[in-house]
Amino acid sequence: PSAMREVILEVPKVNWDDVGGQREVKMQLIEAVEWPQKHQEAFNRIGTRPPTGVLMFGPPGCSKTLLARAVASEAGLNFLAVKGPELYSKWVGESEKAVRTLFAKARANSPSIIFFDEIDGLAVVRGKESDGISVSDRVMSQLLIELDGLHQRVNVTVIAATNRPDKIDPALLRPGRFDRLLYVGPPDEKDREAIFHIHLKKMPCSSDICVEELARLTSGCTGADISLICREAAIAAIEESLDASEITMEHLKAAIRQVPPSEVHSYQE
Ligand code: ATP
Repeated sequence: PSAMREVILEVPKVNWDDVGGQREVKMQLIEAVEWPQKHQEAFNRIGTRPPTGVLMFGPPGCSKTLLARAVASEAGLNFLAVKGPELYSKWVGESEKAVRTLFAKARANSPSIIFFDEIDGLAVVRGKESDGISVSDRVMSQLLIELDGLHQRVNVTVIAATNRPDKIDPALLRPGRFDRLLYVGPPDEKDREAIFHIHLKKMPCSSDICVEELARLTSGCTGADISLICREAAIAAIEESLDASEITMEHLKAAIRQVPPSEVHSYQE
């Protein structure tokens, strides 16, 4: 039985337009992920190789996962997602095999992206086993072997994400491994406006809604907070009347008062 049966393979349907703000990160992802897969000859001709892996770091709820899905979707790449800690919990005793199988599956389904969410979770399991080598050491060395094996193979790209860049094993950051670092920070006011637009466009909205004001009122909120605010507002509209046909500015303002801003801090200040 495959240790990786549970890893879902998909081509996500997320467009660049579904991600508010993050202009620079989007451009970097296109260069680091899409170009190498689409214009291999250009890289060969110029005698260089694209980054093997991309590490996105930044506070929670600020669109790392969304961006990974968007680049896969926009570039038409298959997408295999796995959370770092899952490699231990789900496949106990089979963790290294799980890593091998994951990369084999990505190659078999190339062009593809492997997305490691919470990659810092690979370093948390310490404690030695009877043979003196910890599970995390073995998983880590298998991962390094697989990453090093990707050099000649530009049609599998590895993207990792973390909220805790300080906890990443430095071995992962050496050249030829996760050698492109992208900071994904919290949204500013303009970005929050864009994010409100994205989430409200799926809902019937009253004409009194002013996204500029919503953006002003949500300082300290992440994209995930804004998504929650919009959902809370929709629920409030239904609670008010089962015949509700639209969401109003009042619903949104009430939701803003209910949802505390995550107040994540930029890692770059
Ligand atoms: P974590 O580190 O907690 O995994 P993350 O950075 O990967 O967080 P996402 O999972 O991408 O964050 O974001 C959570 C949800 O918040 C998204 O599914 C989306 O609904 C919303 N969201 C976050 N950022 C944005 C954005 N820039 N534009 C639109 N929606 C956003």
